[in-house]
Amino acid sequence: MRVYTHPACLEHDPGDDHPESPARLRAVLDALDEPRFAMLERFEAPCATREQLERVHDKAYVDGIFASAPAEGYARLDPDTAMSAGSLEAALRATGAACAATDAVLANETRRAFCAARPPGHHATRDQAMGFCLFNSVAVAAAHALAVHDIKRVAIVDFDVHHGNGTQDIFRHDVRVMYASSHQMPLYPGTGAASEHGDGNIINAPLAPGAGSTEFRAVWDRSLLPELELFRPQLLLISAGFDAHARDPLAQLQLATDDYAWITRRLCELADRHADGHVVSMLEGGYDLAALRECTATHVAALAAGA
Ligand SMILES: [Zn+2]
Repeated sequence: MRVYTHPACLEHDPGDDHPESPARLRAVLDALDEPRFAMLERFEAPCATREQLERVHDKAYVDGIFASAPAEGYARLDPDTAMSAGSLEAALRATGAACAATDAVLANETRRAFCAARPPGHHATRDQAMGFCLFNSVAVAAAHALAVHDIKRVAIVDFDVHHGNGTQDIFRHDVRVMYASSHQMPLYPGTGAASEHGDGNIINAPLAPGAGSTEFRAVWDRSLLPELELFRPQLLLISAGFDAHARDPLAQLQLATDDYAWITRRLCELADRHADGHVVSMLEGGYDLAALRECTATHVAALAAGA
């Protein structure tokens, strides 16, 4: 199993006291430094190319992000999302990690990969930065897989506590991609109702504030995993946010660390049946540093177990 990361991802500074801080990635990298992860193959993430980005983002939007990067201080893109001098390269490396990991699994160089990178991506739409996200890395990776590799069906699964409105927006009329998400509702960004189906390829399972392991496992077992099984994805991409954990300060779901082992095993079993085991997971949210560290370790251990 491979890990893709880059030190530039620590240089994205969204502002003092912002929850999406460089300390998050340091916690994730610390977790992966445990002796039990000595077997992980580590790779430096390349920068995403303009061609990769423009498969899902408008050219004018990509131009705007490149032009917004400040030489110093901050450029504010929305109330929650800002760029510092290091943000452009961080975002390019985060998205480049997703594409390089996708290339590696689809070339059978490895079966599983985890991208330890930031900023996150799943709120970024075709033409809007929002919710701490600049480029939608998981969406860019899915579009890259379909454009460059000989596959016809990609699943994006998203267990971040927030709905991935950007990913849904990008693929809601592209039935080559299934987007399956569990998330808290009501919560930012406000999308993700079960009635949002796209062209039948969007499966949303909203959970009420206070819901925990039982409700989470039930929606995956009864709704999301059966739909994914019918779709038979040839590649599984994971928007791995760990902010549904009970200790997370930004939401009210009550997941335990072991729930991330459970869902990861289920997803790997699905990938083993339909996708030659090919799974690429990328870090999204997770704002309690101790919980983030624990959940990442649990998730990566489960990914590696069957690799
Ligand atoms: Zn989130």
